[in-house]
Amino acid sequence: MLDRIKRVVAFFIDWNLSLLPALLIAVVASLIDTRSPLFVLFALLCLFVMLSCVALFLFCDVVFGGRSLGFRILGLYLVDHKTAMPVSWGRRLVPRLFFLQLNFIELIFVLVSGRTVGDYAACTVALSKRSMENYAPKPVKRIVVSVIVSLLLIVGLFVGGLIGGLEAAKQSEAYEIAYEHLVESDAFERLDLDPDKVHLTSYNYSSTVSASDGKRLETATYGFFVGRYSFTVVCHKTESGWVVCEDCPGFH
Ligand SMILES: [Zn+2]
Repeated sequence: MLDRIKRVVAFFIDWNLSLLPALLIAVVASLIDTRSPLFVLFALLCLFVMLSCVALFLFCDVVFGGRSLGFRILGLYLVDHKTAMPVSWGRRLVPRLFFLQLNFIELIFVLVSGRTVGDYAACTVALSKRSMENYAPKPVKRIVVSVIVSLLLIVGLFVGGLIGGLEAAKQSEAYEIAYEHLVESDAFERLDLDPDKVHLTSYNYSSTVSASDGKRLETATYGFFVGRYSFTVVCHKTESGWVVCEDCPGFH
């Protein structure tokens, strides 16, 4: 198996093992009554456990005798990028710190270039025994390919999520009412706009409970683009269904 794939598998092992303290919380949570005074203690315990999960992941290359369990299972060693010699625990901490912050990007980096961003920062690389024997440092130019692939994936996921979210928003009853309100509005007619050229560009939903009467106010805000004009329509949910609101700052 390639060292870079081993690294990804080792990451998932270490990540899941470090979440074990969270299991403790799940057990305690099932035993405790949220109305009891013990609940404050429980909240503190939750905080402590969350911090221990993070600490365990950060220091798993320190507490398990210098190599995390994931690294041991997969037979990996974190070594110096130039010499393939063991590195100090301080340097072993750096890739973990980066993994914690950029886990998704780090996985792409390691798959594309064989090293994570944290590896570049700490000048390290994860190798198996066999690849250590005839090790020669790889040129750093692969970092450029990794950056490009990461950016493309992030932009792709973002745009995909946005388009998917807007398409889903169009399925609602509120959207139909907002769309109809827009195309039948005076402004729309005055500007002589084409209803077929209406594009939904933003959608925002919020639900708030009023402190005075305890009633829930649901609001859906739609942003439209028609030619070079933009419109915003705000809808509220009433007992008789969704209605357009012209009082809220929105429709223009
Ligand atoms: Zn309103």
